[in-house]
Amino acid sequence: MHLEKLAALQIVDLKIQEMEREKGEIPLRLAALEEDLGKEEATVLSQRAEFEKLQKERRQKEKELEEEMDRIKKTEARVFEIKTNKEYQAVLKEIESAKKLNRQREEDILGTLERIEEMQKKLNNGEKNLETKRKEFQRQIAELKQKAAAFDQEMAGEVRERQEREKEIPLDLLNKYRRLLEKRQGVAIVKVQNGVCQACNINIRPQLQIELQKQEVLIMCPNCSRILFWANGLDKAKGT
Ligand SMILES: [Zn+2]
Repeated sequence: MHLEKLAALQIVDLKIQEMEREKGEIPLRLAALEEDLGKEEATVLSQRAEFEKLQKERRQKEKELEEEMDRIKKTEARVFEIKTNKEYQAVLKEIESAKKLNRQREEDILGTLERIEEMQKKLNNGEKNLETKRKEFQRQIAELKQKAAAFDQEMAGEVRERQEREKEIPLDLLNKYRRLLEKRQGVAIVKVQNGVCQACNINIRPQLQIELQKQEVLIMCPNCSRILFWANGLDKAKGT
């Protein structure tokens, strides 16, 4: 009946399936890492842009203040040339309001400086985080690539073992098994344990269980249509 050999082949096939599944996840994990890093980079970029904008604002305000102070100086220098009292009062008033405006400018600049300092801290932290993430990213990429290579090697070994095991099974049975593998989510042969099909959990009626133990004909699960075999068969195949 070759059921033990078929069960042993199924174990190898399950292992290969699992490895293929795990290997298939590697590109997804790489993409997730890249996305994560991209977000971090975008954050730092926007922080840097904000920082530069504030610096520009500060320079602009300082330049304005300087120009205004120059203008006041020039006006003050003119005061001595003034002939009439009326004009004198008007110029003094002009100087006074210009100075008042400049004090506001100075306060404004101080506020900007505080914001710059805050932003600088944020930016430094962001850059530090990014650097850490980059290193972590590189480490994980290397790890995943190594894992993928190890999978390839181990899988090649399993595929060789599968080929060896397949040689021991009659072709018609092997073909049936392969078709079932495809149709039944990678599980073609399944053991009956405690009277239950271990794939679909249906109870196998006692008469069928007796037939199974005889191992004379191929018996399929009445519910999930997989090849059934008596649990002892697998145990022997596993060598336990
Ligand atoms: Zn079943």
